[in-house]
Amino acid sequence: MTDGAYLRFPSVRGDVVAFVAEDDVWLAPVSGGRAWRLTADRAPAASAQLSPDGSQVAFVSCREGAPDVHVAAVDGGPVRRLSHWASEYTKVIGWTGDGRVLAVSPAGQPFRSRTWAYALGLDGGPGERLPYGPVNAIAAGLKSDGDRRGAGQLRADVFLALLSGTLTTSEPPADSTCQPATEVPARRQRDWTGADDAVADVIAEAARDELTGLPTGLPRDIPGDPHGRHHDGLAVLITQAGERIADSLTELKGRWCTPSTDGGHGHAGYRVPAEMRRLVEYRDRRCCFPHCRRHVRRCDADHSVPYQRGGPTCPCNVSMLCRRHHRLKQTRGWRLQQLWPGVLLWIAPTGHWRITAPADRE
Ligand SMILES: [Zn+2]
Ligand SMILES: [Zn+2]
Repeated sequence: MTDGAYLRFPSVRGDVVAFVAEDDVWLAPVSGGRAWRLTADRAPAASAQLSPDGSQVAFVSCREGAPDVHVAAVDGGPVRRLSHWASEYTKVIGWTGDGRVLAVSPAGQPFRSRTWAYALGLDGGPGERLPYGPVNAIAAGLKSDGDRRGAGQLRADVFLALLSGTLTTSEPPADSTCQPATEVPARRQRDWTGADDAVADVIAEAARDELTGLPTGLPRDIPGDPHGRHHDGLAVLITQAGERIADSLTELKGRWCTPSTDGGHGHAGYRVPAEMRRLVEYRDRRCCFPHCRRHVRRCDADHSVPYQRGGPTCPCNVSMLCRRHHRLKQTRGWRLQQLWPGVLLWIAPTGHWRITAPADRE
């Protein structure tokens, strides 16, 4: 098992790494030594994930003809089937805090892009559909091909953290070593951390994926384009897609908001309080326009959706812009959306667009 090209979807817990190679699920000691085959089904397997205690491994297998979620004990025993979806877009993402397998699948949905997250108990009972809404925007970032497995693993970890309400501050596993993850509580007034950068980066990349395919098949008349200006159609289309992405993330991004006294989010009033400004400065580091290097100290705190139009004074709607790009944003035809705290979609009047995330502003 020395040829890295065959090694896919590694998952590390304690001293064991699980991975898929030659269509089978394999296990190996992290400290080195012989790998052993957990399955020998002569059917494709994918996305193996070890349980938190390292005793079970969940994976997608076609051993019964169509792809479904299965689980097996690391030290042997029968392989048990947990789902009956028969969907090739099913993926095992990880495990929930209460020991169920976390999977995403578009099963039962009209479109394969409408992927939902499920928690599957090991007793084989019907899985619970998790109340996160369609998670397609994030799931789109979960492509785990061999060349990008580092990034794929990171995405999977970040996604799991989002769903389970915890963020891990460890680095993704690399070179067969793994530090235990440190959990931090998610629901409190938080600082912005490296893990938050990772989450924002995942969102940004998934949104880029989503938007990149759009110009193909652009219709002549764009619904919602109030002036019917065709030259402006692409910008309108991108704007609408950006709004869709932002809407689909509303529930999840609440973790980064400033809670308000009425149970909503945001600070009452237009002015950005000093503490909030510090958080947003720390998050953004520089002006949020692509490639602008202007330091946040010399930037304005801008409401992405203007306060007068109902945009809250909240980290989810405030970002740092230098004076020049603040003015540009207010120029006719330009659009700016904050898809996620710190992730900004800029749309030019021509329909050209660019997404910037904290990682781009190092
Ligand atoms: Zn907010
Ligand atoms: Zn700027």
